[in-house]
Amino acid sequence: MNRLLNENKTLKDCLICSSSSEEGIHLLDLFICSNCEGELVDVDVGDPQYSMYVRKLRRVRDSLNVNKTGEVPK
Ligand SMILES: [Zn+2]
Repeated sequence: MNRLLNENKTLKDCLICSSSSEEGIHLLDLFICSNCEGELVDVDVGDPQYSMYVRKLRRVRDSLNVNKTGEVPK
């Protein structure tokens, strides 16, 4: 699951589209490629894709919570 030993290239699998890319944003051990990052910013709340993004990003939030020990979201 972890690809921490990727030394040659910093290719990471995008959380949203699962494609490997070097450019994008890193959220802890998660990664969102610049493509999806752009779409994320553009997507409308009423867009069907929005709920998909939200669901995927929930994983980011979850790992953020995991790293903040003792802090339980209300
Ligand atoms: Zn992507």
